[in-house]
Amino acid sequence: MKVRVRFAPSPTGPLHMGGVRTALYNYLFAKKHDGDFILRVEDTDEKRFVPGAQQYIIDSLKWCGIEPNEGAGYSGDKGPYIQSERKHLYGPYAKQLVESGHAYMAFDTAEDLENMRDQAKQQGLPNWQYNGVTRSSMKNSISLSKEEVEKRLAAGEPYTIRMKMPRNEDIKFEDEIRGWVTVNTNNLDDKVLMKPTGMPTYHLANIVDDHLMEISHVIRGEEWLPSAPLHVLLYDAFGWDRPKFAHLPLILRPDGNGKLSKRDGDKLGFPVFPINWTTADGELYSGYKEAGFFKGAFINMLSLLGWNPGNNEELFNLEEMVEKFSLERVGKSGARFDPDKTKWFNQQYLRSTSNEDLAKMVQDQIGDQDHSAEYISQVCGLMKERATFIQDIINDGDYFLGDVSAYDEKTVRKKWKEDTPSIMTELLEELKGISDWNTEAIEKVFSAYLEKNEYGFGKVGPGFRLLVTGKGMGPSMFDICAVLGKEKVIGRMEEGLQKVNDLKASV
Ligand code: GLU
Repeated sequence: MKVRVRFAPSPTGPLHMGGVRTALYNYLFAKKHDGDFILRVEDTDEKRFVPGAQQYIIDSLKWCGIEPNEGAGYSGDKGPYIQSERKHLYGPYAKQLVESGHAYMAFDTAEDLENMRDQAKQQGLPNWQYNGVTRSSMKNSISLSKEEVEKRLAAGEPYTIRMKMPRNEDIKFEDEIRGWVTVNTNNLDDKVLMKPTGMPTYHLANIVDDHLMEISHVIRGEEWLPSAPLHVLLYDAFGWDRPKFAHLPLILRPDGNGKLSKRDGDKLGFPVFPINWTTADGELYSGYKEAGFFKGAFINMLSLLGWNPGNNEELFNLEEMVEKFSLERVGKSGARFDPDKTKWFNQQYLRSTSNEDLAKMVQDQIGDQDHSAEYISQVCGLMKERATFIQDIINDGDYFLGDVSAYDEKTVRKKWKEDTPSIMTELLEELKGISDWNTEAIEKVFSAYLEKNEYGFGKVGPGFRLLVTGKGMGPSMFDICAVLGKEKVIGRMEEGLQKVNDLKASV
């Protein structure tokens, strides 16, 4: 049987990173088994529809590099892949269930249901349900006489179609991650399958579509596990083969306290969305892309939220993930999201990116035209060991891209001593004498100067760095000077001396 999996989000808002993880695991599973990865948009809940969400989902998967090969926004011969465009398909299936006695028509109005809930509450039963016990006191095709039902239908009275949940039956299915799951039907209610508007609910549409689209494995979040027994019953009621189920563990907040929610990101200071999302009211939710994360790092981090390769390896590109992924190695317990670890992944990706590629990203970001690609590559080579984001190269290495605009006050206060100006003047003279300006030559002259005067590095190094870069820290000064070039270094030292002396007097 061909592996066919689907990612079936509802366009009720932007795709949270938990949703991206579900899409990723589906993608990996499909690719691993030479199968299909389908995108189906489940928009049957008209009240919660959010314009733009569908495009956001497509754009997000695209950015992550985990694109479907079939589905909404893609081609395929099992479409349409947007449920609202399939609306006409579901009615006959609901009818079939009514005719086979697995479902029934219910005429209760919203008000009727409200009254029942209120009455039950007054009797100390807060969780009233429409089920095998209560359905006999409601207005439906089971409790009403045949004539009465026909009269109501002839009068065009609106009705819902509900699942007739059997009494006291154990529903069993084997989850690929959790093993055998057994639920007694007495704990389940008569879920609505078809609304009076003719729109199916999630449950009916989901099962009909998974069947028609020949889905072999349903891989989705743990929050859908409570719905699975109903889904299993529906497959059986239709007489269709059940797909295999795999319910992925929850993604937990960094403190391990509960599920990571859409709101946590902004509260706790990290993105929870793949790309930026702006609400209709203009509120911005930040995305990993815009926060400067590499898509590879983001996906790599997500791959390990619930799955592990069985050893200590942590860094994989997408092909390696496909090769190593298996549902057997997905755990049951919640996976804690770690924002610091996410940054660590980015750092590793940045380090392993070539200087040339980093240079292109830096130039794209700053729109720089003044420097050659080769110069920016050298800068990236020096800065990448200390950077987590491209922006760090730009910020921490600003002295490579422009003049020194400020001097680090703390360094001025602590390291610019009374004798530093004269030491810098002497060092400057030594440096001026270098004819072949390169790292080794600069280092040699610098070391010789220290030796001659019996100075330690700490007496000369910080002042030198301050004049040339304005900073208290950074890569090797000899490398920095070699990249900047003799003229710039000499110029900065000459100009900086007076400026830092003035600053020293004021801090
Ligand atoms: N539409 C559901 C969601 O929003 C899909 C659940 C499933 O995969 O069956 O997540």
